[in-house]
Amino acid sequence: MPQIDMQALDKQLTGGHASIMLRPGRYRQCVRAPLLGAVAPHTGRSSPRTTVPGVGIFPAPRGNEGPGGGRFPPRERPAHICVMCDTPFPAAPPTVRSHDTGESPNMAHTPVTLTNARVVTPGGVHDGWLRVEDGRVAALGSGEPAPGGEGRDVGGSWVVPGMVDTHIHGGAGHAFPDADPEGTGEIVAFNRARGVTALVGGLVAATPEDTVRQVSALAGSCDAGELAGIYLEGPFIARSKCGAHDPDLLREPDTAEFDRWLAAGRGHVRMITVAPELPGALELIRAAVSSGVVAAVGHTEASYEQTLAAFDAGASVATHLYNAMRPLNHRDPGPIAAALGDDRVTVELILDNVHVHPGAAGLVFRAAGADRVSLVTDAMSATGLGDGEYTLGDLRVRVRGGEARVVESGAIASSTIVLPQAVRNAVEGLGVGVPEAVRSASSVPAAALGLEGAGRIEAGGRADLVVLDGDLTVRDVMYRGEWVA
Ligand SMILES: [Zn+2]
Repeated sequence: MPQIDMQALDKQLTGGHASIMLRPGRYRQCVRAPLLGAVAPHTGRSSPRTTVPGVGIFPAPRGNEGPGGGRFPPRERPAHICVMCDTPFPAAPPTVRSHDTGESPNMAHTPVTLTNARVVTPGGVHDGWLRVEDGRVAALGSGEPAPGGEGRDVGGSWVVPGMVDTHIHGGAGHAFPDADPEGTGEIVAFNRARGVTALVGGLVAATPEDTVRQVSALAGSCDAGELAGIYLEGPFIARSKCGAHDPDLLREPDTAEFDRWLAAGRGHVRMITVAPELPGALELIRAAVSSGVVAAVGHTEASYEQTLAAFDAGASVATHLYNAMRPLNHRDPGPIAAALGDDRVTVELILDNVHVHPGAAGLVFRAAGADRVSLVTDAMSATGLGDGEYTLGDLRVRVRGGEARVVESGAIASSTIVLPQAVRNAVEGLGVGVPEAVRSASSVPAAALGLEGAGRIEAGGRADLVVLDGDLTVRDVMYRGEWVA
């Protein structure tokens, strides 16, 4: 058995972001890791592609446990690869343990006091200190904090709640519809490290069977405490407003089908988007609401009146306002005016400066007020990976300059931002106040979907906190009382 330099292997394959662990006992195994340029792109089944002595890696097709004729994907995209040793490993298969998703060792919780902080709370801005103990916000105060524990002077920075993204499909090379718990964990870790501490996993239109499988997989991630819920975007939406959904998979509302997803979701399905003009839509909205699922209106040709009927039936969210819905016209005001004018409704806004012009986005904040605006990313797997070609469900999507479009139709597909960017865009581009913009990315989405304990800083609440620099970039993130590296 040659001595393998594991640190060199980690660094070469994943840039040190994950540990390739060669557990003894098997000659070769597949691992899933984001590959770096040093080893990819390459193809071929016979030549080892690492310079670490004693180890070869090979591309492997998805789900294939052997070094088949797969290809390495473009650099920095996750891939199944085979790690092969010159001689058999002495025991079990290798696994990849991400440094981001790994459980932090159970350290004793020393109380931490953040001083000189501008804290955004549900009641307004609190200038002073905030004490964290046992994963919770123990107290907020002004003046000298009680002694004990660790202190950190944040120098007058904003301390805001961990952000909450309720409409997101993927990131860091993974997508929720992949129904891959490891990939889901990486989306969660990617967002958490950037200040988004609660995610609702978003699915797109799929066959009834695929949806059951996906919902069931995401429910497992919810049970594990990684996801805050599951969001079904479709499939009961308008073909003519399908956006990045495969039009062949869209269908009329079917409460029996919906019930099967609810069962698969084991109480974790939080929201479903429906087009109100479809036959059976109002019945589905009533069924959803009576099951404790938020009904959202979107991907729709609905008139103003049809949209109001949906709100009367219990729908309470408008899915990415302006996008994939009948446009606003002064004699035919449609869903946009209906949603902006109805105090029962929270409107989602994708504030990436691509989906909605800042002039139109500013109107939303003025018409609805920040407490009815929920900033969402609608982000896809390419988020965090840069420009290139990716897939969204079965559709090919090209990202150029951060703008993602469906290759075939040219439709805007998804965003590639992380939620704090939307907060910066609201403040810098629209003149929204910092506390208001922060609420629109934390307590508002959490309340709209009934996510208890998320998106709020208050005594006794979860210590999910973000420290923002003067230019509103994320400086530090605390999750459940622990600093996230
Ligand atoms: Zn979406």
